Amino acid sequence: EVQLRLTGVHRHYGEGETAVRVLEAADLEVRGGELVAIVAPSGAGKSTLLHVSGLLERPQRGEVEICGTPTTALNERGRTLLRRDTIGYVYQFHHLLPEFSALENVSMPQMIAGRSPRDAAGRSRELLDLLGVGHRAGHRPAELSGGEQQRVAIARAAANAPRVILADEPTGNLDPDTSDIVFAALMDLIRNAGVAALIATHNHDLARRADRIVTIKSGIISPLTL
Ligand code: ADP
Ligand code: ADP
Repeated sequence: EVQLRLTGVHRHYGEGETAVRVLEAADLEVRGGELVAIVAPSGAGKSTLLHVSGLLERPQRGEVEICGTPTTALNERGRTLLRRDTIGYVYQFHHLLPEFSALENVSMPQMIAGRSPRDAAGRSRELLDLLGVGHRAGHRPAELSGGEQQRVAIARAAANAPRVILADEPTGNLDPDTSDIVFAALMDLIRNAGVAALIATHNHDLARRADRIVTIKSGIISPLTL
């Protein structure tokens, strides 16, 4: 079933003549277990699409539905709660907390969501194992390679069992071989958990492994074949 749906989304910056019209009647659906890659030139609106989908920015027009819940009518509190319950985010740079271990980094969002430290640690171990970095659980980010750091960040994004994962250039700062490993781990996770995933990438080889590729052109989202 559809976990993320954008219908007729307009997102402009500024007003009038000088307005930058990034999304203009953009439509998109992503189902559980489906990985959709966004490939578009710099400035085309990939980050904007991810921010609107992640409920960080409001569109001026149109509807964003997360897990069947329309979000236009929600207030900021409602949007924050829905975001926490349903969305996981992976950035280009991992943003792990440097003074905490990999395990603690993955446990923290779970404890904030109310899970006990013991249960959180158990789930964190499972996720780190699934992503192939279980042996690094006790290490701090600075002690890990770039690919390991990024896999820990993916585990953290998945910690609270999101229904939607949004990723902005998740392999953008990694070498090709490491990108492959990280992307494969991300795909495993998405399939395993039946999560809907929307991933911006410049890497065409990785994009081709997605279920679908879309691009953004003149504010419209359309299918792309590479
Ligand atoms: P991409 O991620 O594809 O590089 P972005 O979504 O970051 O594209 O940006 C799309 C366009 O919107 C760019 O022209 C950018 O300068 C503009 N833009 C993005 N965010 C803002 C903002 N907060 N204020 C004004 N313009 C913005
Ligand atoms: P809070 O507002 O709770 O202090 P954040 O705003 O950093 O924390 O993140 C709240 C939730 O939104 C987290 O699940 C995070 O992964 C997700 N998130 C963070 N940044 C984005 C983004 N750019 N787009 C979509 N979701 C995001």
